[in-house]
Amino acid sequence: TPRVFSGIQPSGDLHLGNYLGAIRRFVPLQQSHETIYCVVDMHAITVWQEPNQLRRATREVAAAFIAAGIDPQKSIIFNQSQVVQHAELAWVFNCIARMGWMARMTQFKDKAGKNSENVSLGLFAYPSLMAADILLYKATHVPVGDDQKQHLELTRDIATKFNNDYRAAIGAEGLEPDFFPITEPLIAGPATRIMSLRDGTKKMSKSDPSDQSRISLLDDADAIAKKIKRATTDAAELPNAVEGLSDRPEADNLVGIFAALSDQSKADVLAEFGGQGWGKFKPALAELAVSVLAPMADEMRRLLDDLETIDAVLRDGAERARVIAEDTMTEVRRIVGFIR
Ligand code: ATP
Ligand code: MG
Repeated sequence: TPRVFSGIQPSGDLHLGNYLGAIRRFVPLQQSHETIYCVVDMHAITVWQEPNQLRRATREVAAAFIAAGIDPQKSIIFNQSQVVQHAELAWVFNCIARMGWMARMTQFKDKAGKNSENVSLGLFAYPSLMAADILLYKATHVPVGDDQKQHLELTRDIATKFNNDYRAAIGAEGLEPDFFPITEPLIAGPATRIMSLRDGTKKMSKSDPSDQSRISLLDDADAIAKKIKRATTDAAELPNAVEGLSDRPEADNLVGIFAALSDQSKADVLAEFGGQGWGKFKPALAELAVSVLAPMADEMRRLLDDLETIDAVLRDGAERARVIAEDTMTEVRRIVGFIR
């Protein structure tokens, strides 16, 4: 059966990019796939997280999943650290992946900046843990934003190298020669990469120090309107056709957000707003964003009022995830030659 895995880090306030690029796309996959959605708290601590903030953010991601329409009965929703097999498989993958592969990762280079001597070893090994998240469940498809494309390629490289390095042992154990699947990324739609509201060349991120750079899922209507009003743009009117957006990253971003939020193409949006100025477009975008986000924020707040229920969802999900994870790890230990 096709199986989907995807994760979100509890590393700050969830934003519109996380929603449009990932969470929203998780919902329809529940109809066609077995779906596993994870709050990747072990990934989050690759950069410093204050423990109380980590707990708050973990529950907030779980609440966002449910508020967006992920059904905890149908899907497995859990936080990564409750299933220790993620760490166990990540170690094996640390011994499969090559230093050179990791050193090429643009996310590491972006997050480490110029001071890479001083970032955690975990941040360097991040893609290896991500490969473990996915392959522990032998997931065939991973819906993610465009920024994760390179990490997905690395996951495929790790799966391929593991299958090759251990070919003889996999055969001797009577297992499928393609022990780990070569996972397909699902990166599609008009919102695969939402950019910062302050800088059209940087992606919108939880870890951006500027709160003005992102629309958070729990922002109220006022905050959303202000952030959109202040969003950096050029002075020109909106173009009449999509080609007119090609060298205008900020305009392209805002039109893309409008298109994604209203389930239209950018061309449809420009058919309505082409030739008009920002004074007309920005308030319309703010109104649209509020109409989509406010009901979800209300539902998230309602869910976050009852932490016991949220924690029970994560615990139940972890139990179900552990069954699959332990099956895979039992095979991996045999393949690698670990005595039990
Ligand atoms: P951080 O800054 O801590 O890395 P983040 O905002 O990048 O946080 P992640 O938890 O790393 O969020 O990513 C969760 C999912 O959201 C991934 O599938 C990622 O590709 C997607 N995503 C993140 N930012 C964007 C964005 N700006 N546009 C579209 N998708 C995004
Ligand atoms: Mg990220």
